[in-house]
Amino acid sequence: MEMIRCPKCSRFFRKKDIVNLDICNTVIHATCVDEQWIYPIKDIGTYAGFVKKYAFLSVRSGDVNDIYN
Ligand SMILES: [Zn+2]
Repeated sequence: MEMIRCPKCSRFFRKKDIVNLDICNTVIHATCVDEQWIYPIKDIGTYAGFVKKYAFLSVRSGDVNDIYN
């Protein structure tokens, strides 16, 4: 699983973190979303759950060479 940072607090997501996914497919901690985060949230769950659920996170969690070669 690739280490992805929260765009708000810059901490790496851990599997059990409760995270939100916005309409731009940005993953952000649920606790980091505030009124300044203008993009509507379309899903909430654990980071580990998101990696299983969303292909774009799974690809990013795989070997980067698979994408560029
Ligand atoms: Zn955060």
